[in-house]
Amino acid sequence: MPYPRITADLDKMVENVALVKEKCAAYGIDIIGVTKGFCAHPDVASAYVKGGVSGLGDSRIDNLKKLQHLNVPKYLLRIPMLSEVESVIEHAHISFNSELVTIKALGKEALRRGKIHRIILMVELGDIREGVLEQDVTEYIQEIKGIEGIEFSGIGANLSCFGGVIPDEHNMSRLVDLADRIEKETGVMVGIVSGGSTSSIPLVSRGKMPKKINHLRLGEIFIIGTYGPTGIHTDVFKMEAEIIEIKSKPSVPTGETGLDAFLRKPVFEDKGIRKRALLAIGRQDVDIEHIKPSDQEIEIIGASSDHLILDIDSCAREYRVGDIVEFGLNYVSILRLMTSEYVHKFTVTT
Ligand SMILES: *Cc1c(COP(=O)(O)O)cnc(C)c1O
Repeated sequence: MPYPRITADLDKMVENVALVKEKCAAYGIDIIGVTKGFCAHPDVASAYVKGGVSGLGDSRIDNLKKLQHLNVPKYLLRIPMLSEVESVIEHAHISFNSELVTIKALGKEALRRGKIHRIILMVELGDIREGVLEQDVTEYIQEIKGIEGIEFSGIGANLSCFGGVIPDEHNMSRLVDLADRIEKETGVMVGIVSGGSTSSIPLVSRGKMPKKINHLRLGEIFIIGTYGPTGIHTDVFKMEAEIIEIKSKPSVPTGETGLDAFLRKPVFEDKGIRKRALLAIGRQDVDIEHIKPSDQEIEIIGASSDHLILDIDSCAREYRVGDIVEFGLNYVSILRLMTSEYVHKFTVTT
């Protein structure tokens, strides 16, 4: 049994997706499952599909490549690089775009392969990451209409990720107004009006999401339960690492101290001699600020690249070398653990 490991409970994941899907469907909102939080692990993505997402989205083509066997539309969520246009056409059915030069290149490549590539035009609603300015949108659509190989599927916006702007009735209504204006001024139908990510869920829960928003791209709510309804699982993923040393040591280093392995000047509180456990996992694998021991009596003292140091002095449980310590995770730690090639990935069904 190799350690350290991260384990995903696929049944919990299926339940999370089914629960959110039911809530969103009641508001006429279609959901796609965003896989980048777990590096598009194919089995976890399968659980998304089993739970009922109508598509899978990721910001990276390398991740979408892992999902080709799953029979739902694949969305490339990050604006494509011009240098990856060929693989976008090969591996994604739909991509999010904001640059005409890129859309034209996508059209050309789609034509060459006898395909039609669908696009969603991203609109800037204040978060100042990607997207066309609102006043330029109809002009873009007029151009896109004439690009062979491209089918305009709708518009979308992304909030909260960079500027921290919260989706609300006001900015979502601007997206809806824009869809109306496009249809009126260009005669092009706007099928998809994609109103964001997990951060848009509170608006849906309050019944305040404008009706014409019919699409959300969701990752975090499935992965860690953020903004989820009652019954959502917040513990789909967990981390386990193995104890390699247990010793009682002073809580303050002995000798003259300089910088630690991460170029910081460590600070220690003198609590006397404490019983500590050393785990075989470190900062190269996970952000230790974003993990939480399941045994609440454990205190994380710190870590270097390959070692995690725990204070187990107050623990009721009698830990031994070779024991496995379990941790709860958040989005940041899941992402890093799934990205580390030194961490073994497992899935379980209950
Ligand atoms: C990551 C991402 C999402 C999903 O965000 P969550 O917070 O995980 O729900 C949606 N849309 C875009 C464009 C993204 O990059």
